[in-house]
Amino acid sequence: MVSHSRALAQAAVGLAAEMVEADHLPRIEIAAGLDAETFGTDAAAIAEAIGAADSDDGILVLLDLGSAILSAEMACEFVDPDVAGRVTLSSAPLVEGLVAAVVTASGGASIDVVKAEAERGLSAKRDHLGSADGEGEDSSHTDGSEAGTGESGSDADSFGADAQTRELLVDTPHGLHARPAARLVACVNSFAEARVRVRNLDGSDRVAEAGSLSAVASLGVQQGHRIEVAASGAEAADVLEALTALAESGFGDGPAKPSPTASPQDTKADGIDDRAQPPPPTMGSGLEAAIGVVWRPEAGGDPDAYESSGERDIEADRLDEAIAAASRDLQTLIETTRVHVGAAESEIFEAHLALVQDVGLVGPAREDMRKGVGAAQAWQRSGESVAARFDALDDDYQRERAQDVRSVTTRVIRQLIAPEVETHTETQGGPGDAGVATRILVVQELDPAAAASLDAEQIGGIVTIGGGSTGHGVIVASARGVPVLTGVGEAAEWSAGAVVAFDARTRRTLLEPDDEQRSAFELLLRDRGEQQRADRAAAGEPGRTADGVRVSVKANVTSVSEAARSVELGAQGAGLVRTEVMFGNWRTAPTVDEQVAEFTAIAEALDGRVMTIRTWDIGADKPLAFWKQTPEENPFLGVRGLRSFLADPAVLLDQLEAVCLVAQEHPVRVMFPMVATVDEVQWALDRLEEAALRVDGGRPESLEVGIMVEVPAAALRAEAMSAQLDFVSIGTNDLTQYTLAAERGNAGVEHLFDPLDPAVLALIASVCRDVAEGVSVGVCGGAASDPAAAALLVGLGVNDLSATPVSVPRVKAVLRRHPAAELQDLAAQALRCDSATEVRELLAALV
Ligand code: PEP
Ligand code: MG
Repeated sequence: MVSHSRALAQAAVGLAAEMVEADHLPRIEIAAGLDAETFGTDAAAIAEAIGAADSDDGILVLLDLGSAILSAEMACEFVDPDVAGRVTLSSAPLVEGLVAAVVTASGGASIDVVKAEAERGLSAKRDHLGSADGEGEDSSHTDGSEAGTGESGSDADSFGADAQTRELLVDTPHGLHARPAARLVACVNSFAEARVRVRNLDGSDRVAEAGSLSAVASLGVQQGHRIEVAASGAEAADVLEALTALAESGFGDGPAKPSPTASPQDTKADGIDDRAQPPPPTMGSGLEAAIGVVWRPEAGGDPDAYESSGERDIEADRLDEAIAAASRDLQTLIETTRVHVGAAESEIFEAHLALVQDVGLVGPAREDMRKGVGAAQAWQRSGESVAARFDALDDDYQRERAQDVRSVTTRVIRQLIAPEVETHTETQGGPGDAGVATRILVVQELDPAAAASLDAEQIGGIVTIGGGSTGHGVIVASARGVPVLTGVGEAAEWSAGAVVAFDARTRRTLLEPDDEQRSAFELLLRDRGEQQRADRAAAGEPGRTADGVRVSVKANVTSVSEAARSVELGAQGAGLVRTEVMFGNWRTAPTVDEQVAEFTAIAEALDGRVMTIRTWDIGADKPLAFWKQTPEENPFLGVRGLRSFLADPAVLLDQLEAVCLVAQEHPVRVMFPMVATVDEVQWALDRLEEAALRVDGGRPESLEVGIMVEVPAAALRAEAMSAQLDFVSIGTNDLTQYTLAAERGNAGVEHLFDPLDPAVLALIASVCRDVAEGVSVGVCGGAASDPAAAALLVGLGVNDLSATPVSVPRVKAVLRRHPAAELQDLAAQALRCDSATEVRELLAALV
């Protein structure tokens, strides 16, 4: 029996005991209150009570509200795992549940039956008082629990007579991870007159108070899980409506509705006052390599460095002040990141802001402080316990959210140790010694707050010991051009002050390089830096070979900001707009108008340069949230790309209609992916004509039409395939995987996956040779972003490249240095090579 109040627990036990014969009374242990008078719950006391109550029959824990639940969960982590395995935390109402449980257990029922009966403890009262008229009740839920089945039943059963429930589908890519969970919690907390609980129906079957982010986000709700929300109180119906709408919007991860204005210029255009903008963070080198002095900042958040006042009230005030200061810092970070990095990244800090004020973190810390624990230690304990719950989750992405909890834990502790010190200084400081001016930040995992606020002029690079590449910190640092080497493991346990160099391109690290190694590394950096500057300075020139043969160098883009950046970096248009990536998070298919708006925004950012819109390339590695796919044995060889629409072209027709409309105003090309046969080309062209009929003015003359060549069958029949087209664009990613039967992204066959394999080159050469008269041949796969490979492609006859924006200047620079004849000669040699390795050796001299 776990309660905030010892008196309450004792009285309830007394009442329940009245119901049965004394010699049939099951064993009842109480862990309630911090002492006889002080309200609170104590995980250690609960663990002790669990130990005392333990028997092979199992232990049912009845609890009251809030931190009782968290403390009980924590207690289960303290006890022996075998004992913990016998514990069931009951969501039953405390008094009624206890009475039902005691009565049932006294008859010798199994623990499952006892639990089920406890959870139906409100039925009698509800039947009598509340639900005779069925008001607001969903009977299919309220009657859902069967005694003896071991099912925990609907949450409404245990939640109050007026509880209403609703079942919602969670369809966000990573389930209810920090950001969607934060939106759910914020939504719930905006209804003062409602109390809401969430149950994960498909995963853990655990229940959480919906007002606690840590509790909701650690329910382990993954994509495709259903949750049951149960609400009580005057605003129950309203909160359920709001939550339903939120779920339908993908918990805010869905339709990233026209917010394509991520660059500072765009925000100014929106009329936001310049003076209100936070200062831009410094940008990283973008060189993917760095040398510097090892700096380990973890010590800054060490709770042992905190001196407690010994006074409970003072400690409570200090924690409140630290949380307030940390919240202010986070507000600034949200703004800075939103304006200078991106809206998605700034949401990470919105989740941090919700976490730092979360009752699941603050509550247990307050309780510890009431028992005399100092603020920093109490906060650290609470943070560790919540982070541990995330660490225990099954989903990799959700597990990585533990680092968000650790980040806010450290942020508050830093405030406690050094109040008023801006946390931005956490990553700043004077240059290191040993004659090296920059620091290499070495962290267990990269905290997104540090990644966004660090001074990139002082932190030359970041090395993470653990932490995966999907961590928010890595996303933020990379967006800022800071070199990051992730997951180095114990090899990176360097001591602070040591000099270290790393090259993220080769994953090479050097500890305490000797003079010679150090000069060599500094030379590498200087060379990369000089080259980058020179390439960027000349990036505005049109792409051409040394002897003036024109090669259009475009960029692959998926957003307005990428399009704008591409133009700055000299891209001559967008050679591939991956529409399935642009709309990847939309919960419903975008309408024609919505697509027109998004495409137009990109076209405007391209400022008159051509935009190549690829129609939906769905399937295999490219899921689309609004497109439900039938699971297949071998999706890469299944219904993907153009094939997805053969049976029902409606969604494709909408997209083609949008393409025609945008093409009336801007230079546009349209391109069909995953085409294997001449019949498919014809089918696609027919659909374009069908869509054009829906548009006033029809298909504009200027709209060029092409296909991607990424299936060997298409490459081998290039002439017939291209007879009615304006262009073809070779997708080397897929063409390589289908030619070598080596799945892209499968580490086990990575050694085979190389677009420079002579077999892939032979197919590319045959496309260039056989393509119909006047049809341009492009490459938009990964090979076009590798400067040497791009030059080789031009030697093979390709005249249109589309690379990642950042590689555009380098690709152009390499082409400018070599005459076409030299590249053709090189291509002829490459076709005679026996392996990709040989081809790469041949190309080494090019760059
Ligand atoms: C390709 O396959 O090379 C390509 C550009 O398309 P995607 O990578 O989007 O499949
Ligand atoms: Mg492809």
